[in-house]
Amino acid sequence: MMPANFDTIVSLAKKRGFVFQASEIYGGLRSAYDYGPLGVELLRNVKEQWWRSMVQMRDDVVGIDSAILQSPEVWVASGHVASFSDPLVECRECNSRHRVDKLKDPNKCPTCGNSGTFTEPKEFNLMFKTHMGPVESEDNVVYLRPETAQGIFTNFENVRRTSRMKLPFGVAQIGKSFRNEITPGQFVFRTREFEQMEMEYFCYPDDADETFERWIDIRNDWYTDLGMNADNLRMHAHDADELAHYAAGAFDVEYRFPWGWDELEGIHNRTDFDLKAHMDHSGEDLTYFEQETDSRFVPYVIETAAGATRTTFAFLIDAYTEEEVNGESRVVLKLDPRLAPVKVAVLPLSKKPDLVETTNRVADSIRGNWQIEVDVTQSIGRRYRRQDEIGTPFCVTVDFDSLDDHQVTVRDRDTMQQDRISIDSLAAYLSDRLPR
Ligand code: ATP
Repeated sequence: MMPANFDTIVSLAKKRGFVFQASEIYGGLRSAYDYGPLGVELLRNVKEQWWRSMVQMRDDVVGIDSAILQSPEVWVASGHVASFSDPLVECRECNSRHRVDKLKDPNKCPTCGNSGTFTEPKEFNLMFKTHMGPVESEDNVVYLRPETAQGIFTNFENVRRTSRMKLPFGVAQIGKSFRNEITPGQFVFRTREFEQMEMEYFCYPDDADETFERWIDIRNDWYTDLGMNADNLRMHAHDADELAHYAAGAFDVEYRFPWGWDELEGIHNRTDFDLKAHMDHSGEDLTYFEQETDSRFVPYVIETAAGATRTTFAFLIDAYTEEEVNGESRVVLKLDPRLAPVKVAVLPLSKKPDLVETTNRVADSIRGNWQIEVDVTQSIGRRYRRQDEIGTPFCVTVDFDSLDDHQVTVRDRDTMQQDRISIDSLAAYLSDRLPR
């Protein structure tokens, strides 16, 4: 199945309150977005599912939440101060700036169409700089982190000592990262402030290749298990000349976005590069001692680095479905129930006080279990359509018979089949159909 049209998804996201332009009332800030009531739920669910599969369900991975502001030395050691940059050219004709590596034709300006008008490429560092404390001087420059990974490496020994983890083990983190991207765009795909879900898996150097292969499979399965269409997902192996200087192997998980295949996640064999770099730079011992063999060495690390905001966008695109039902078209977000922002909508057939009162009672009886919504406006058909469009797996309708028979109608989003269920057994019915 081909992915949905880009403009349609963006318009649905804005219209239904998934994503808003940041600072919209001031004309907006380019490439910055706010997540609305539904978007924040979807994003949270994506992050929660990642945490559940990477930390909660594994006994070999623990979590961490490191600071966005770190010592600037961290970014010197990691190589970001010296080389976290993109080659940038400026068009002398229209003054637009472009990343050389993203230009279709390296001589032609995509903004004004002129050829041969570019300046020589200049390296542009992508880290946001600010100052710590009241004085703005070079001595108190700090950076907003461009990735969450370094907070894991710098805490390697703290985590090992306090959690008493033994190799192989991983450390996972979800959090905001910042990159002063030259060409942000495609809605929330590439933004200057975004969220990442990263995991560093420390292992024996001899096991690194096999561990790398294993994590490629685990990560691929995570997307398909959450309902992403396997045809829209592929693994792209980096050629030797595409590899970063620290990597012994790299795979990208790619999604078929409306504009073509693009990266969701990078899986890298980073060798012992990062721990060694921090050891050299800080003078601290980050080696691992193994009592059984009386040996001391620097572990290798396999990294899985996914974008939470970018992945959320991909799930939204993937779930978007238009279908014909009885000669009418309907839009449905076929999100996995675990990702759906609202799990259950409770709808009275009309606004009559008796019905609304029973509706509120039904809603209160299940509110503690799931994110629910009560909607009393408009006709029932329109309310079903709205819930389909935001991906709500179940609609519970309270009608006049409900007042006497204490039963409600439960409508399934995908099959549109309706079941009559007693109010007392509603929670159990839904529990069976809404996995965690
Ligand atoms: P790209 O080539 O798309 O800029 P990258 O290879 O630099 O990405 P990594 O440094 O490997 O990305 O970061 C891991 C993940 O973080 C990416 O796969 C992506 O999902 C997410 N990510 C990186 N930069 C951005 C951004 N500017 N906006 C949104 N997500 C991002």
